[in-house]
Amino acid sequence: MSELVLKCEPLNKVLDGKEISKYDTEQVYEISKKDPTELFQASQILRIKHKGYVVSFSKKAFFNIINLCRDICSYCTYKAEPNETKLSMMTKEDIRQLIELSKTYRCVEALFVTGERPEEKYKEAREWLRKNGFQSTAEYLIHISEFVLENGLFPHTNAGNLTKSEMHELQKTNASMGLMLESSSERLTQKGFPHYLAPSKHPKARIEVLRNAGELRIPMTSGLLVGIGETPYEIIDSLYVLKTLHKQYHNIQEIILQNFHPKEGTLMRNFPAAEENYFKTVVAIARIIMPEMNIQIPPNLSPKSYQSFLSVGINDWGGISPLTPDYVNPEFSWPQISKIEENCENVGFKLKCRFPVYPEFFDFLNSNLRQKISTIEDGLRFVREEYWR
Ligand code: SF4
Repeated sequence: MSELVLKCEPLNKVLDGKEISKYDTEQVYEISKKDPTELFQASQILRIKHKGYVVSFSKKAFFNIINLCRDICSYCTYKAEPNETKLSMMTKEDIRQLIELSKTYRCVEALFVTGERPEEKYKEAREWLRKNGFQSTAEYLIHISEFVLENGLFPHTNAGNLTKSEMHELQKTNASMGLMLESSSERLTQKGFPHYLAPSKHPKARIEVLRNAGELRIPMTSGLLVGIGETPYEIIDSLYVLKTLHKQYHNIQEIILQNFHPKEGTLMRNFPAAEENYFKTVVAIARIIMPEMNIQIPPNLSPKSYQSFLSVGINDWGGISPLTPDYVNPEFSWPQISKIEENCENVGFKLKCRFPVYPEFFDFLNSNLRQKISTIEDGLRFVREEYWR
């Protein structure tokens, strides 16, 4: 039994180690709208119980492999058109150069990002792939993942809805992979909503990919976009979708909660940014639904207040790069790692550098990946200090 007794009964249940139902979570949300104090208190107790005072991050380089994309999401500025200066199509030589640079900055992770199957829409993508000897973006990713792993970085691919066989190939070299659920709301795929022209974002399609990843035992990073027009109950539903997947396959290694910001040049440019108290409530709700989950917010998207999220349940900052921009949110540069560390220590937390795969998921790795990690891990399965500092 927890020693603390709260007025909100469902929160007492969670603190006693019991699971909370969706209905109860909705009640917690309603109470927290008026006063979130007890919710924040409970989420923090659970965070300390399951994660201690460690907060982790992954030191990464962002490989913007190809940013042409078949889909259109109403908030996205990552996607480029072939005539735009922000177009990125990284050749193997570009990749080799970025590996070298990443190593001088002591990065550990190579984050590979692409648009959704660009070759299905753009002849420029098809020609670029053909010129490099590949039929598809996924084939290219499989090839460069091998190259990058052999050259001393750990790949983590985030390339949209890959097929099961593509993921099966990538899992040989990727320490983990990523696919945001974004939202379980089918309403957001209707006309006038952000995923109307993005079939890959249909919740059924995303859940299918996450299910395949579960069957393949791939440590997956997933998460939600918060503030893109969903209702609070839809957010709760989305979290339960992820919880259910994890209960079935045990392979969701972390949940990213990403707060929406409107961007110039997009259909949602006049839409309000996710309000901070709402965002904090969502973070805390995620912790009470999944007390043991790794929960991450990107610090660059809350530049003035990210450290305050340490008191509502998060235990990770995600990938932070000392050398490449966040190409998905280029207007938000990453804070310096030393500054993040100072801010963590000021509120009693210790910053640790993790691999793109979390310590508790090492058993999912093949022997080659496991062996490579073992050469630079510390006794707690984080990256040895002298390797990344
Ligand atoms: S968010 Fe991803 S899928 Fe949507 S348009 Fe941008 S690159 Fe394409």
